[in-house]
Amino acid sequence: MNLAAGLKRLMLGPEEKPIPNLNRNDRCWCNSGKKYKACHQATDDRKRAAQRAASAKQQGGSLKRGF
Ligand SMILES: [Zn+2]
Repeated sequence: MNLAAGLKRLMLGPEEKPIPNLNRNDRCWCNSGKKYKACHQATDDRKRAAQRAASAKQQGGSLKRGF
């Protein structure tokens, strides 16, 4: 029994896949044959930012750094 993993899945949802950490010039994970920077990097960056914002909210929004 792994309660922590179960909770994590509940919070993230079953369809949420981990975002791969690729170099800009690597081939994208989606097998398009394009470089990551020309393909999914912008999308992934936005997802990462959204996830970060969501987790910051869950911590009470105490993460206020003037960007
Ligand atoms: Zn891609």
